This record gives sequence, structure tokens and C-alpha cells, in this order.
Amino acid sequence: YSTAAEIENPIAPDVKIKHTQLLINGQFVDAASGKTFPTYDPRTGDVIAHVAEGDAEDINRAVAAARKAFDEGPWPKMTAYERARIILKFADLVEKHSEELAALETWDNGKPFQQSAKSELPLFVRKFHYYAGWADKIHGMTVPADGPYHVQTLHEPIGVAGQIIPWNFPLIMFAWKVGPALACGNTIVLKTAEQTPLTALFVGKLFHEAGLPPGVLNIVSGFGPTAGAALASHMDVDKIAFTGSTETGKAVLELAAKSNLKPATLELGGKSPFIVCEDADVDKAVELAHFALFFNQGQCCCAGSRTFVHESVYDEFVEKATKRAKRRTVGDPFKSGIEQGPQIDREQFEKILRYIKSGTESNAKLECGGERFGSRGLFVQPTVFSNVQDDMLIAQDEIFGPVQTILKFKDLDDVIRRANKTRYGLAAGVFTQNLDTANTLSRALRAGTVWVNCFDVFDAAIPFGGYKMSGIGREKGVYSLNNYLQVKAVVTALKNPAW
Ligand code: ADP
Repeated sequence: YSTAAEIENPIAPDVKIKHTQLLINGQFVDAASGKTFPTYDPRTGDVIAHVAEGDAEDINRAVAAARKAFDEGPWPKMTAYERARIILKFADLVEKHSEELAALETWDNGKPFQQSAKSELPLFVRKFHYYAGWADKIHGMTVPADGPYHVQTLHEPIGVAGQIIPWNFPLIMFAWKVGPALACGNTIVLKTAEQTPLTALFVGKLFHEAGLPPGVLNIVSGFGPTAGAALASHMDVDKIAFTGSTETGKAVLELAAKSNLKPATLELGGKSPFIVCEDADVDKAVELAHFALFFNQGQCCCAGSRTFVHESVYDEFVEKATKRAKRRTVGDPFKSGIEQGPQIDREQFEKILRYIKSGTESNAKLECGGERFGSRGLFVQPTVFSNVQDDMLIAQDEIFGPVQTILKFKDLDDVIRRANKTRYGLAAGVFTQNLDTANTLSRALRAGTVWVNCFDVFDAAIPFGGYKMSGIGREKGVYSLNNYLQVKAVVTALKNPAW
């Protein structure tokens, strides 16, 4: 590995923390309990800030504000164009503050600053431009019906949306959730992940500077079993959207059902296959498979975490994939040229090391890595296992870390059957130059996204979501609007059916 392990003198981020309170009804306020919790720098384990810790009482206050803003306006009653203008103005403000926001994102999360600044902030802005564009293009239909009736559908906002987001892409997840909900005229209570509360509060402030009326977007920092569960089970929340683990997704769905049967969209875990076919250009396949797994410290729900390689190119692939992983630069994410920063928290860090141990114990071949990187902070060596078998834990469970598992396959039937033999179905990668192979695999794989000769393409217009236990519903694109709309049929008797 090309960087010194010790983060003895971490680079000081060029940003001040301005907002640590809850954002309710357009105001920053303390938690009702007065409690706070620390958020950490994963490079060092040092506390960055103490943040107001919202719980059920604060969720009640936030929902009441969102309810009032929805029922009494002005938000849902404004013209769609006026709403779009506020969203666009907000996107401009984010663009203006993007260096600061990128620094804050990296500080709280540990992802490379270049990634935050050059990729995630521009994507964030682009998403809000995209949804602002939808705001005034949402409309119903006129429907021909048997009988003397004029029938039309109205597409109305669903009401108060509860949204629970994870820590791996704090700003991007904010955009996927908040963008469509606001474009459709809903009001929101958003619960951020306890590991990464800071950037949402910053952009929440910018939204109000852009003219968002109070109560439309409320942001509650806090923990899952308290604030999160209170939101999912709230009787006055009309819809819940969640991104996180499959286990927690099930709990959220249960709370939604047991309370007021609010509809839920869930974006959950994955164990996505990345399939390298026999005709592949091995060097390119190695690079893309590496990116598919290691991007964002391996902390992606759609990570290409089962690398299936055709037997004819398997040995060459393993050798080159190992070399590539050894070259991966690990270190202070604020330093330029660093590809991999620390994992998010101690729990994830230890879980990853446990899975690595399980891989070795089950006789997968450890080609490189396998240990903690350095002695400070939550860094893990880029790790590659070859000779991985389908029934090993490392081939079945979501590891959520920089651990590539390489499996060998014989032919298309073999890889289709094995790639689909998982409880997940979030994404898949296919690497081939053969059109028929690409078409066959794209259709046969049971996954919400199939990337052919590319991976992790997250354009705002492309729908994203899971088959099977990877989730319910689709985010992004036109499909995401359905999550935040009710359809009302208006049937009017015609007095003079002849006309
Ligand atoms: P992870 O294990 O990676 O932290 P989770 O799925 O537990 O993933 O967390 C994703 C989000 O769900 C976070 O915002 C977290 O606080 C929230 N959460 C965790 N447990 C619950 C719960 N029981 N009810 C509602 N939200 C929860």
C-alpha cells in the first residue's frame, strides 16, 4: 500500500461546524430532552461535534410542524413553478457552498474529499435540478369510461413524508429522498443516520435561505430505535421511505403496518454479482470490478461483492485484481490521491474484520490484505479472496467493506443460476463484448439494476431499487414520483352524454 498508515497528523478540514441542533419548523432547536450525542471523525476516533439527540418527543414536534405546513399551506398550495424556483435556488446555494459541504461530508463520513467534492456534490445539485424540472410536469389523465361520465385523475401529494437515511452517502441519500417528495408538494420529517448528522443540517439551513416555508422540511438527528422508530410508527405520517439494512427495513415496514398502514419504500442490502465473461478485456474488467467493490470503502448497498469470473480468464484475473488491490492508496481522505479512507465506525470495522476471519477459516484463499491498516482510525487493508465458494458466509452476507470475493464459473447457465441464488436483488454488473451475452444476462438476472460494461452509474433519471429482499419500490427517475403521489379519480356524470 502506498501510503503510511498512521494518521498522526490528520489534515484539518477547511470548514466550521455551524449547525448541530434539530431543524424543526424552520428553526434550529435543542432536543426536548436537552440530550446530545457525539459524532466522530472516523480517521481518528476524535469527537467532531455534539449534536442534539432527537427522540420520540422531537419527532412529534417535527411531524406537527410538517402536518401544519401541509394542511394549511403554503407549500402544497403554491404553484408547482413556485416550488421549482425554490428548489433551483436551493441547488444554486449548495453549489456556492460545495467546497465547505464536501469537507464536512468527508470529515463526518471518511470518504475521499475528491469524491465528495468532484462527484457527490455535483450529483447532489444535479438531482435537485432534475426534480425541480419535474415539479411542474406532474399531472393526471382523462380516462375514457363506459357510461355517461367525464373521468379524470388528479395526482396529489401524499402528505407528510417520513424519511430515514443511512450514513454511507449522507448527502446523496438526502437528495434521493427530499428531491421527489418536495417536487410533488409533500412536507417532510427526515431522520439522518446517527453517524453522519452534519451535512443535512447545513443544507437544511440553505433550503430555508432559498425560501422554503417553515415546517416543509424538518430534520431530526438521532438514533434508530428511538427517533427512527417513532417516525416509522407515527400516526400522522402518511408515507415512510427508508434506506438501510434489510433487517432494519423489515422493522420499519412492520412499524408502518402496525401503526397507520402508511406505504413504505425500502432500499435495502445487496450482494450484487459482477460477472466477467470469457471474452472480456481482462485489464479493463479488473479495473471495473475493483471499482465496483472498493468504491466508498466498500460501503455501498449495490457493491459488486461477488465477482464471478469465467474459468478461461480466472487465473489472470485473480493475479491482476490482487495487484490492483495492493496498489489501492489508503490513508487520510483529505489528502489528494487517496482512494480509500476509514470505515464509518467501530461496529462496521469490527464486522468487516470478522468476515475476513470467516473467509480464511472457510478456506477461501486470501490473496492480499486481511487486516487492519495502520494502528489508528478505522482503516482496513484492501482485501481479495479467491477460490470463494457459493456457500461461504463471505459469498452470502453483505460485508459492507473493502473485501473482494472472487468466484469461478463455467458457462452462462452456471453463472445465471448462481448469481440469482441470493436473498438479495439490488444490482448486477456484466462485463462482456458479446451483445447476446449482455442481453441474455441482463434479462436473466433478478436485480433492479444491471450495469453492462459500467458500474455505479447514478444519473438522476435512472431508477434504482431492489428485487427480493433488497427492497420495495424505486427511487430516482420518473418512477420515484409515484412514491410521493396519491391518485384521485374524479368521476363526473354528464348531463348530455351525446357531447
Ligand atoms: P446500519 O446497520 O448500517 O447502521 P441501519 O439500517 O441500522 O444500518 O440504519 C439505517 C438508518 O436506519 C439509520 O438512520 C438508523 O438510525 C435507522 N434505524 C436503525 N434502526 C431503526 C429502527 N428500529 N427503526 C427506524 N429506523 C432505524
